[in-house]
Formats: sequence, C-alpha cells, structure tokens
Amino acid sequence: MTRPIQYACSPAERYCECGRCQLPPAPCIDLGGVVQLQRATFTFSTFLILLAGLLAFYAIGFAKTEGVHRTIIAERTV
Ligand SMILES: [Zn+2]
Repeated sequence: MTRPIQYACSPAERYCECGRCQLPPAPCIDLGGVVQLQRATFTFSTFLILLAGLLAFYAIGFAKTEGVHRTIIAERTV
C-alpha cells in the first residue's frame, strides 16, 4: 500500500478526504468576506438609488412649486 490515492483529495480545490493534505488556508473566511463586501456594496448602492430617487422627487416638487409661483407672480403682474 504505497499509494494512498484511494482518497479523492484535491488540494488545489481545497478538498481533502484523508486529512493529511496541506490545503491552502481559510477559503471560507475569504468567501465570507467577499459576500459581506458584496452585501455592503449592495446595501450602499440601494441606499444611493433611494437617495437619488428622493432627491429627484424633491427636485420635481420644487420645480413644480416654482412654476406655480412664477405663474401666480405673472398673473399678479398682469
Ligand atoms: Zn487528503
């Protein structure tokens, strides 16, 4: 038994069945960090989109109010 290749170990894919392979360190932590970063980016972009929508809403409202104001002033002047 000089060949312990009965295990389907694949250290390159961070997979080991024999428990004696030297795997690259800590893939889960990296993946979790990436997922957390993606979540943070997603939350931030969603917040930015909502903020932009709110600003656009206020801008449209302000423009409408300004237009009404101008028409009132114009009517008063006439
Ligand atoms: Zn192994």
